[in-house]
Amino acid sequence: MNKLLLAFIASVFLLATTSAQAATAVTGFAGSLAAQVMQQGQPLSEREIDPKTYVVYVTKTGKKYHMDGCQYLRKSKIKTTLADARKAYEPCKVCKPPK
Ligand SMILES: [Zn+2]
Repeated sequence: MNKLLLAFIASVFLLATTSAQAATAVTGFAGSLAAQVMQQGQPLSEREIDPKTYVVYVTKTGKKYHMDGCQYLRKSKIKTTLADARKAYEPCKVCKPPK
């Protein structure tokens, strides 16, 4: 839903740049739409993750890091941060932690 809205807003802005007469009204309308989208709040995306505080888990023997609850964490589970884990480990292909 948000993606559709954003695409619509982008096309409206494109129109506005090619139509000087409609520009004022259209950008005002698009602006209020954009404000509505912002107020709804965006889902957490990878860009918003802070690797220094984002918790992931590694195991004693594995070479991958995991999200909490991953099946590979049954034997050992060592808490660490994404910033540290990505230095020496690969993201698990099963639980798909952020890279
Ligand atoms: Zn995993």
